Amino acid sequence: MPPSAAAPLSAATASKVEALLARMTLEEKLGQLSQWSGGTAPTGPKAASGSEEDIRAGRIGSFLGLWGAETTRRLQHIAVDESRLHVPLLFAFDVIHGLRTVFPVPLAEAASWNPELAQRTARAAAIEATAWGLHWAYAPMVDIARDARWGRIVEGAGEDPFLGSAFAVARVRGFQAADPAEATRMLATAKHFVAYGAVEAGREYNTVDISKRALLETYLPPFQAAAEAGVGSIMTSFNEVAGVPMHAHAELVRDVLRKAWGWNGVVVSDYTGIKELLVHGVAADRAQAAELALRATIDVDMISEAYLRDLPALVRAGRVPVSLVDASVRRVLTAKAQLGLLDDPYRYCDPAREAARTLTPDARALAREAARQSIVLLKNQGELLPLRKDTPNIAVVGALAPDARAVLGSWYALGEASEAVSLLDGIKHAVGPKARVTYARGASPVSLDTSGLDEAVKVAKAADVVIAVVGESGDMSGEARSRSWLGLPGAQAALIERLRATGKPVIAVLLNGRPLALSWLEERVSAIMESWFLGTEMGNAVADVLFGDENPSGKLPVSFPRRTGQVPIYYDHKATGRPFASGDPFTSRYLDVPWTPLYPFGFGLSYTQFKYDPPQLSATKLAPTDKLEVRVRVQNAGKRAGTEVVQLYLRDDVGSTTRPVQSLRGFERVTLAAGEAREVVFTLDQDDFSLLDSQFQRVVEAGTFTVMVGGNSRDVQSARFEVTRSAKLQGKSSAIPRMMRITSKP
Ligand code: BGC
Repeated sequence: MPPSAAAPLSAATASKVEALLARMTLEEKLGQLSQWSGGTAPTGPKAASGSEEDIRAGRIGSFLGLWGAETTRRLQHIAVDESRLHVPLLFAFDVIHGLRTVFPVPLAEAASWNPELAQRTARAAAIEATAWGLHWAYAPMVDIARDARWGRIVEGAGEDPFLGSAFAVARVRGFQAADPAEATRMLATAKHFVAYGAVEAGREYNTVDISKRALLETYLPPFQAAAEAGVGSIMTSFNEVAGVPMHAHAELVRDVLRKAWGWNGVVVSDYTGIKELLVHGVAADRAQAAELALRATIDVDMISEAYLRDLPALVRAGRVPVSLVDASVRRVLTAKAQLGLLDDPYRYCDPAREAARTLTPDARALAREAARQSIVLLKNQGELLPLRKDTPNIAVVGALAPDARAVLGSWYALGEASEAVSLLDGIKHAVGPKARVTYARGASPVSLDTSGLDEAVKVAKAADVVIAVVGESGDMSGEARSRSWLGLPGAQAALIERLRATGKPVIAVLLNGRPLALSWLEERVSAIMESWFLGTEMGNAVADVLFGDENPSGKLPVSFPRRTGQVPIYYDHKATGRPFASGDPFTSRYLDVPWTPLYPFGFGLSYTQFKYDPPQLSATKLAPTDKLEVRVRVQNAGKRAGTEVVQLYLRDDVGSTTRPVQSLRGFERVTLAAGEAREVVFTLDQDDFSLLDSQFQRVVEAGTFTVMVGGNSRDVQSARFEVTRSAKLQGKSSAIPRMMRITSKP
């Protein structure tokens, strides 16, 4: 097991935890389980604000939304020196994609298909955040999301459990890595357990009703991978699953997460999640809500104050066993011990370190690198891109172009617009002395005002090329940001229409936190660059790609529909009994739009072209426990160096239960010089061949399989092999994708 906050304690520390627990009053125990808001968390009903007196009295175990070396030191001092048992506080915060240095939003970063990069940005975020006195990151969000109406799709790694698990593991490792020289290990939180991404109609906080199979095959794997990777904490979700709200879901939290998976970290409720059990209608009062949550083994009550206020009476009345409270307190104290706080409570609050570790040149350079790798080129008609830096007259239009707040996207922690590079600034810095960049506002995503269109047309007419910066404003995705329609909001469509009429080549550079329905745009512009919200260095990174200093390599981590009505849409769907067949109306399709996505999962263009040879298999007949090697030769057939994400998909052709038409089972980024070729080798084994049978047993079933390899999920070449016998899975299977497993090599 890699170093993690869930790693076993030394005997000495464990006995320290037990000694503390033995001395605690019931109220002090419940204090450890109570998280108060610093008054700054933006995400819920009015927050309670813990007072210094509450810290002194041991009524607070952790804070949400308080930061800064000075502030945390002051409060830690009260907890450690002025409370009876001197137990240090934990400070938690939503460090979603950076703290002060803002990295790409998580969905964008997943487009890099580079988990190692995500591990580095999570590490950098932890280094900055821990210098600000923070111990506990409410990240990574590992919810699979297939409905782009849901605004929180921006916070995760997209639609696929395999890619999602790879990013979950990478981010957990990044946050939780220990540094012998400095206290930079941060407790990571895999959230939101579970199936929050499956809210009906993509409407925030809505009901979830999914099958056990979907839960096991799609929504649970990234959590299981995070648990296996030793994530220190997991947050429950606002939704219900099969009629039971997750804050009361003993079957999933206690029985699956803890008992079946053997994970023993801290489960934290979501913001007022315990209190909301009343509104869900499964608790008559707050006391009952507290009991349900504690019995489900939710350890920390964020904001509801239900544990603190209501559990004492229940425990004293014998309705709730104190052993449940003790088990939760033990887990919280263990987390504090693992962060080293029982030995040195002030190790995270050093003002000098805070100053030295904030927005460092290294962090900015990493932000730029991550931003460059996250960009996905969706269309490039006539090789319009890359642009020459000496293009005489470049028009940039759109209200988002100079908007340095928008580039930070949603939930940008302590990011500052004044420290971020807007697209307009990035483009201006990048061009040569002979180029002229003119700007017109044109239209904005948040208003229907068309008064700027004439000016935009004038600027466009005078230019050689038009860069239209369009999409969503920075706060149109994220929590409580569901949309019912995925087109270009505001007056931006009118702007595009007018720009098209000028006859000038138009490049659409998109800012958005979710897949948009782009058919309409695709028909009207020459090039489309999906650049999401890329953080502090966004403008520079976009310019790097526009002008060819970086050859784009990003691939979509989520399918892009043609129209909103197609969602949820995802690549690993089932065949159905009547898959679409051209010319046959009684097959699965729409009357008014093709059934396929506009841009499939895994799609992204490059300024060069990659050529694939058919995949070669090491065997065509296998025993269930055999390994299979898949070799594929990829060549850069173009004129410039580039990076390709080689993707491997698998299909079990016939199973006792229906299987997806394809499932991602491997990917690798390869950088090739012009003309260069390389052989990429993937290994598959029983984990990949297995399925859950009708009894939900993991088995490998005899029969044929199809391997597909290509640069996206649609354009693939295939080969077949056969597993000759059926068998139960041997040994323990792992939810961690193979390339992320840590093997001890001699
Ligand atoms: C969100 C969580 C977040 C918490 C604390 C909630 O509204 O769902 O993801 O960690 O607020 O800010």
